[in-house]
Amino acid sequence: MFHRRAAMTANPLQLTGHIAGAFVAPNGEEIPVIDPSTGRMVAVLHETSRDEVHRAVVAARSAFERGPWGRATVAERQRALMGIHDAILDHAEELAELETLNTGIPLAQTANIHVARAAQNFRFFSEFINQQEGDVYTQENGYMSLVTYDPIGVCALIGPWNMPLGLTAMKIAGALAFGNTCVVKPSEMTPLTLCRLFQILDERNILPEGVLNLVNGRGAVTGDALSSHPDIDMVSFTGGTETGARILSALARGIKGGAMELGGKSASIVYDDCDLERAVDGAMLGSFMNNGQMCLAGSRLFVHRGIADAFIEKFTERTRSLIVGDPFERTTEVGPMINTGQLERMEHYVASGLKESATLLAGGRRHGGFDAGYYFEPTVMTAPGNDLAICQEEIFAPFATFQIFDEEDEAISLANDSRFGLVGYVWTNNLERAMRNSARLQTGTVLVNTPIMRDLRTGFGGVRQSGLGREGAKGSRAMFTEMKSTVIALKPPALPKMGMTGAGENA
Ligand code: NDP
Repeated sequence: MFHRRAAMTANPLQLTGHIAGAFVAPNGEEIPVIDPSTGRMVAVLHETSRDEVHRAVVAARSAFERGPWGRATVAERQRALMGIHDAILDHAEELAELETLNTGIPLAQTANIHVARAAQNFRFFSEFINQQEGDVYTQENGYMSLVTYDPIGVCALIGPWNMPLGLTAMKIAGALAFGNTCVVKPSEMTPLTLCRLFQILDERNILPEGVLNLVNGRGAVTGDALSSHPDIDMVSFTGGTETGARILSALARGIKGGAMELGGKSASIVYDDCDLERAVDGAMLGSFMNNGQMCLAGSRLFVHRGIADAFIEKFTERTRSLIVGDPFERTTEVGPMINTGQLERMEHYVASGLKESATLLAGGRRHGGFDAGYYFEPTVMTAPGNDLAICQEEIFAPFATFQIFDEEDEAISLANDSRFGLVGYVWTNNLERAMRNSARLQTGTVLVNTPIMRDLRTGFGGVRQSGLGREGAKGSRAMFTEMKSTVIALKPPALPKMGMTGAGENA
């Protein structure tokens, strides 16, 4: 039903929210869902109203407080997580096609990375919860203290458009693994894969009613109704820094927490002792994968003067020869931007760079080879200073900038001169230097001699305005649980009189 071919028919798919175990009737404000490679409408999204968002939160609350999920054993939760994992893999091809149709990300990437990773998240958390230990402190005076992790309750999970299934699956897997119930909101621009996943899960009857709910619609309407709802317990959000700040202020009013995976403007420092070919290849992936629309793009490149000419020449040459095209073609390396707004954004930053004396080395304009769709030429500029807008603002597009440095200290301070702090990339064959750089870069993650590499056992997230909290393993546990301390008097000494020091004071 959701297959690419269905989108080509005269009757577009009608997408709605999914609340308390069933899809909602299509009755909301209609929002067109667009294929960015053609500009054509492939589905109609019916916006979930504030009242329906309320119903979704009530369903999640009821499933948490009264449903079987709140009492599910680890083994039962593991079975459900692996059921979702298998369901995704059984529909991998279809989900990859839908993701490509809706985002314009090349099929080679959605099939090999996004969908595989979406499934892997469920397997990972299913294994992780089986290995969880709490802390136990025994005390010689007859007390025992336990530290355990309770589910936090109803989680609002809000995701962006640039990797809708993979990034939101991470949140869903983590939230469910620790026993929570959820209300999920994808971007209004890219709801296809999550809607289809809910349909698949319905067919397999994996989760009890109300455990996982879906609301769809614009951020300012559906997103706001969800993130400011008084009965959610937390928000796990991935998106832009300004939206994250808005959500945090709504949460602060209810003294609630939020985990924020926000924007980035990550630096790649390329030293003259690196493996040049590997560094060029890695920096290309770090700048242009996912059509360049990724939070952890390492597209702010700092190159040592000793190799600057060779590196920049190779990088520019390869950028010019990137295959830009139909994302369904297996050979395509860069597909279309998500919408015309992104094209205008690219044009704005090219003009801004030129005005501030940057030099255009590649790209810089809309791609002339297509009759329709939102194609832009992958773009490279050299910047005379780090204060240019193209070096400081997140462009979120296939747009790389170069600056040249002489000393390590200079490279580090240029890299750290940013309001963001998501990832720092270091290209060097000197291990001591790599460790020194890792210690000094003010980012949540440092990647040495590798482009994007995600190890779910480690936490991913940003410092500064790139976010709060970490996703993955213990980071997700911190996000989706409340730490609880239980102190048990086993065979304690007599209680002291009022006003004297406490019986368990030695802890
Ligand atoms: P936005 O902040 O615009 O939107 C993110 C999500 O929030 C969307 O679902 C959006 O809905 C929703 N939203 C918007 N306004 C509100 C609101 N007031 N209340 C609740 N929800 C709201 O980001 P983009 O979708 O444009 O994503 C790009 C951004 O995400 C970039 O800055 C990028 O760096 C960041 N990102 C960070 C990652 C990380 O791990 N750190 C990973 C991937 C992306 P709608 O789209 O329907 O309006």
